[in-house]
Amino acid sequence: MEQTTLFPTSTISQAESYERFVRWDFVLVQLVVIAVVAVYAKIGPKFVRESAAGPIGTGMLLAMLGLGLIWLLQLPFGLAELWWQRRHDVTEASYYEWVVGGWFGLGAEFLFVCLAILIVVGLAQVVGDWWWLPGGVAFVALATLFAFLFPYLIPGQEPLRRPALQASANSYEEQLGLEDIPINVQDVSGETSLPNAEAVGMGPTRRVILWSTVLRRPFTLDEQEVVVAHELGHHARRHIFKGVAWYALFAIPGAFLISRITRRRGGMRNPEAVPLGLLALVVLSTIALPLQNVITRHMEAEADWVALTLTQDPQDAEGLFKRFTFAAHADPSPPTWSYVLMETHPTGLQRIEMVRAWQAREQPSP
Ligand SMILES: [Zn+2]
Repeated sequence: MEQTTLFPTSTISQAESYERFVRWDFVLVQLVVIAVVAVYAKIGPKFVRESAAGPIGTGMLLAMLGLGLIWLLQLPFGLAELWWQRRHDVTEASYYEWVVGGWFGLGAEFLFVCLAILIVVGLAQVVGDWWWLPGGVAFVALATLFAFLFPYLIPGQEPLRRPALQASANSYEEQLGLEDIPINVQDVSGETSLPNAEAVGMGPTRRVILWSTVLRRPFTLDEQEVVVAHELGHHARRHIFKGVAWYALFAIPGAFLISRITRRRGGMRNPEAVPLGLLALVVLSTIALPLQNVITRHMEAEADWVALTLTQDPQDAEGLFKRFTFAAHADPSPPTWSYVLMETHPTGLQRIEMVRAWQAREQPSP
């Protein structure tokens, strides 16, 4: 199917020029971070050779220094992207809000990296190069805990007060054999104009979060039903649990590789190996991106299929996907390399192709 038959040419060319900037900003920041962290892996250990903080304290210091460096490097690229998004009305965030939000994010990262160093360098004192096994398991346990608690970390939630949409949600839950899952609305006014929704939590903390932007015009009740059905589809197919299981399949071998790579610096029991460990982590994460995107795109396609089956409404699903593509200035059919590296969701064109495929199979025209 050609994208030009589905989207106006002006929309496509606007999206292409919008995304070209976002893509190159992303590629540049990856390259700059890897290059600078490589230099840091070489010279970082010299900064604290005389440190009296003990191996764990010294490791934390080196890790925070590296993280601070990455944060500073990303700052101009992030500001450039914010400028671009503001220019295209994709975000409503001010520079001030963005920087303050970034500070909070950095604070959280500092806390997490200290915990990670405590686990890795601490375990390496006891079990040497075998830290990757209990360490990998500890990271998976933390990821599980985070997925479980995440719903409580989202600010500005209110219960959905749309009886018609709630009634549809109840009926979908029944059809999917799900227990009652709360549908909450997150007020994102003043932050973004983008429409979005997410399925979060595990077991008793499961819920669906709709951004307030989805409940505004131009979205119709029928389109909102597709959104809710898609998110409930994530829960019905246990995607959050599967996400954590996939994380384990990356984290445990990743920890093993980092333990091997850092042996040339005496292993992770030696804090001087921390900058090299950070470089290995950054490079391995970049290599893993295309694979992780394959996994999330598969889950998103599955949730789309569930939504079509529940709503039996391919017209409004197609309308919704067009609106999403349009609002985000997303290129409905991006170049392959950026698709592989950056797309966590199927493209606008792929989502509409699936709608048509579902329709051909389930509602063939007489
Ligand atoms: Zn989804």
